[in-house]
Amino acid sequence: MRKPIIAGNWKMYKTSDEAVAFVDALAGKLKATDKADTVICPPAPYLAALVEKSKELPVQIGAQTMHEEVEGAFTGEISPTMLKSVGVEFVILGHSERRQYFNETDESVNRKVKSAFEHNLTPIVCVGESLEQREDNATAAIVSEQVKKAFAGISETDASSAIVAYEPIWAIGTGRTATAEDANEVCGQIREVLAELYSESAAQSIRIQYGGSVKPGNIKELLSMSDIDGALVGGASLDPESFAALAEAG
Ligand code: PEP
Repeated sequence: MRKPIIAGNWKMYKTSDEAVAFVDALAGKLKATDKADTVICPPAPYLAALVEKSKELPVQIGAQTMHEEVEGAFTGEISPTMLKSVGVEFVILGHSERRQYFNETDESVNRKVKSAFEHNLTPIVCVGESLEQREDNATAAIVSEQVKKAFAGISETDASSAIVAYEPIWAIGTGRTATAEDANEVCGQIREVLAELYSESAAQSIRIQYGGSVKPGNIKELLSMSDIDGALVGGASLDPESFAALAEAG
């Protein structure tokens, strides 16, 4: 049985005060439960403070991206050891917004995935097709290629603890959710690719999230699907009430 994992991607939203107020508000709403793991991925300036604050709560903290090198002349970047040094446990890698606006490629995502494992961070590896690719019936091919490239050179032991997030680009922040059946079909295809790359047992242990306009009203149906093991949530993760409701649905 895979335990669902609900991760909130705050993107570039919230001031420091708002971030702290969110966690304070969550304290009364989020109960410790075995039903789901929960992760919040705030903007980088609040990571350390939220790691401290999250100790009172059943929630872990993740970063939204990172550089693959440990240190160097890379102005503006944050390294895996820096994340570890403030207690971060997860890192979102290859989000479609990073691919679209910051030139991330399957190759750079692969370097970051390798680095995350080297530094004991759990990567949330994002894959997903554009609307054009879906309309061309290219979803399975695109997503399979992204998964193969992201996991190139990663051992089965490491891969088994990875999280994969299937996020169709056309469903992110648009209010358009893939149907639960369509999302489940692609998550199943991802699991088949992972079984080919590694083994059936590794593929069965890897948690695959769906992301794209997930909200309290559609999470239950998505989580009832056989191959959907959680959600990566943008907009609906910004409100403590709705984030708690998503976590409770796990
Ligand atoms: C995301 O940012 O990964 C995402 C899925 O956003 P939203 O839930 O707002 O569509």
